[in-house]
Amino acid sequence: MAPPNDDSIVANLVTGARVVSGQESNDAATTAVMKSRSVDCNNGTTTTDAVPPTEMIYYTYDGNFQLECDAEILSCQFIENNDVVHNNNENGEEKQDTTSFCITSGIVHLALNRTVLHAQGGGQPTDTGVIRLLNNANDEKTGIVVEKVLLDRATGVANHIGKLRIASSSPLSSSLSLVGQPVSVHVITENRQILSECHTAGHVVDMAMAQCDMVMPATKAYHFLDGPYVEYKGDIAAPERQKVLERLQSSFQELVQQDIDTEIYNVTRQEAQELCDRVAQNYFQLQEQFGEDETVRIVKVAGWPCPCGGTHVKSTGVLKQRGWGITGFKCKKGVVRVKYGQGVGLEK
Ligand SMILES: [Zn+2]
Repeated sequence: MAPPNDDSIVANLVTGARVVSGQESNDAATTAVMKSRSVDCNNGTTTTDAVPPTEMIYYTYDGNFQLECDAEILSCQFIENNDVVHNNNENGEEKQDTTSFCITSGIVHLALNRTVLHAQGGGQPTDTGVIRLLNNANDEKTGIVVEKVLLDRATGVANHIGKLRIASSSPLSSSLSLVGQPVSVHVITENRQILSECHTAGHVVDMAMAQCDMVMPATKAYHFLDGPYVEYKGDIAAPERQKVLERLQSSFQELVQQDIDTEIYNVTRQEAQELCDRVAQNYFQLQEQFGEDETVRIVKVAGWPCPCGGTHVKSTGVLKQRGWGITGFKCKKGVVRVKYGQGVGLEK
């Protein structure tokens, strides 16, 4: 998967329901698809223009650990062909029983009033999840399998992209009118857990750097599982590198051993600047990205506060089980890339 185009840890900056930067680079393309090919599923009435910002439940500390919520569908659009495909048996024949389950072949885009699902951005991949229709609560198979959540920075509306699954016996299978439906939203917990660990480990890298007097401006964070890293503007002299790496690695493991609690809170822009402006041009474009009266979400991992919109684990000690640690770094063209991963600290 290509790295998101956020250009720093700052990419995580959020305020209230609005993410300031850090969306994946294909947001614009997705939006274009929605506009050109979408068919509204509420009798042709377009409702998306009036949809208010989505309450992103994980922005608060308690919400960060909340894995399901009730919500309401505010808008719904089907993308591409949405013919209903019935389940076939092994011989390719359609099953005859009236409760047979069918899957729409198209993709559905949903906006809800609130969500527990983390929207991709700030270097952290999307949550995956399931949205169940509460009016069909007896039918556990009915719902939307959410594959991606993208937050529109301009509107603050989170777009839930997934596949609709409806039992053929359901009245919904003919009307497909989902707007106004009460739903429950569920995070796929295994995926959330490991992504929260990965993101938290990225912040521990930041604290380890500070502890080793390597305070450099962070320029990019990539908390995907296929090779996560944090990049800094700066250089480390070649003869020093091995020694610095060893210090960083042991500093990271010490922070894990200390089992330091994660904190999440909102502060004013001014307070955020005082908390986080450790390096000139580091945290940095706060004035450009936030209005004077806007709040900034601060995540404090291993005692190191950063503006961040991601999800995290409760304490650094959680990183012990999978052995998160620093794997190496690369210095090139004034950029230090600190790489980290799983299975590093296990032997210690
Ligand atoms: Zn972060």
